[in-house]
Amino acid sequence: MTLREEKDRQNSALLPPGTLRAKRVTLLGAGGLGSPAAVQFAGAGVSLTVLDGDTVSLSNLNRQFLFTAADGGKPKAALAADRLRAFAPDCDFTASCAFLTDDNAEQLLAGSDLVFLATDNNDARFVANRWCVRHGVPFVCVGIAGACGTVYLYRPGETACLACCWPERESPDKRTLAAAAGAVSSLGATLALRALCGDFSEAGNLFLLDTKTMTLDRLPVKKAAACPVCGGN
Ligand SMILES: [Zn+2]
Repeated sequence: MTLREEKDRQNSALLPPGTLRAKRVTLLGAGGLGSPAAVQFAGAGVSLTVLDGDTVSLSNLNRQFLFTAADGGKPKAALAADRLRAFAPDCDFTASCAFLTDDNAEQLLAGSDLVFLATDNNDARFVANRWCVRHGVPFVCVGIAGACGTVYLYRPGETACLACCWPERESPDKRTLAAAAGAVSSLGATLALRALCGDFSEAGNLFLLDTKTMTLDRLPVKKAAACPVCGGN
């Protein structure tokens, strides 16, 4: 059995076999929320474009396990793609060591079947949101503050977009429990893999994971009355 056939067999626990072949996810952010999802996507046989303009920093290494303590100062995107190639030689990985802006979004996000928003940079999240709405591409947005996280799947033309529902303020908690980031990221990756296979049954629900109380809440999100990005309802 080839590596690809073996991945299909494992994926069939949840996903129709063969549906993930030739799919490409653009990963926005290769940090604490991006690293776990990147490995989950590659493990499922999905090709990735990794976007991150940052370099590896000691303060984030507790949760960015694609990197080592010897990688300080090196560009995250290129390094992540290298590590992922070794992990999943059946997939294709490209990297852009750049910050996403409205000026480069057309070039950097082209060819995405889904965009995974795993950055803590709100400006970049909203750039990706606008591009996804404009091009009818789904996205999953994950966030983390301390020990609590959020996951949201956007379905083009149907659910609320980020501009409808997401606060633009920064998180008040600058600490991140690595295990919570991993849980939120993997939950988001699961929703993304399902969406890539055509299952949008959880689109439009905001999932709130609290690892202090070990609870997962699901809140339906409504479109804004007159959203400037998606038009609202
Ligand atoms: Zn909207």
